[in-house]
Amino acid sequence: MNNIIIAIDGPSGSGKSTTAREVAKRLGYIYIDTGAMYRATALAFQREHLNFEDDDFRKLMDSITISLENTVKGQRTYLNDEDVSDLIRTPEITKFVSPVSANGIVRDKLVDIQRKLGEKGAVVMDGRDIGTVVFPNAHLKIYMIASAETRAHRRTLEMKLSGMQADEKEIKKLLLERDEYDSNREISPLRRADGAIEIDTSSITIAEQTDLIYNFALHCINEVNKL
Ligand code: C5P
Repeated sequence: MNNIIIAIDGPSGSGKSTTAREVAKRLGYIYIDTGAMYRATALAFQREHLNFEDDDFRKLMDSITISLENTVKGQRTYLNDEDVSDLIRTPEITKFVSPVSANGIVRDKLVDIQRKLGEKGAVVMDGRDIGTVVFPNAHLKIYMIASAETRAHRRTLEMKLSGMQADEKEIKKLLLERDEYDSNREISPLRRADGAIEIDTSSITIAEQTDLIYNFALHCINEVNKL
């Protein structure tokens, strides 16, 4: 059996997405960025000028489709049939996404899609609740952390590289606010899952963290094959 499920969780800027994408590529697995799905939902919510009421969330979730496609340009995110991959990365959506993703109706629908996408295995999925809620029985669970300074610095560089303006102090403030929100919400708060391996990426490179997780994955595939 070669098709394990790898769940990677952690706060923003801990290096999850970059590492998850690289590990998936090396293993020939599918990479699923669940944060992009919550971001696309937040974009739809914002466009419709909705209120934070369950009725509004219900209507919204009944009327939209969210999907991901892996292309040569990387993973693209679709809201209905529109490619919103760039629109969901703006500071406005980043600010808005935590309160939207704290809603149970939103989470139920997206978790359902995520489970369907991952059920056959051969998948690396990253987010906040993959090892705790989406796939609590994932074969390999990783919890990535890094200092707030490192995470803010990485986000700033990322944003500047994609042509956006970025103020590191402001980014750090927003990042800590988002951590607080994501960790203290009632439903599926950000937590290290039971059995997850914690990796602090503050002073290791992307290549090192990718190697580390890739090797854990190979070990895990071996162990699963022995059963
Ligand atoms: O990973 P990213 O920073 O793009 O995630 C955006 C937001 O989506 C998070 O701050 C969190 O509020 C939400 N999220 C979540 N559960 C996930 C993935 C993301 O609640 N599995």
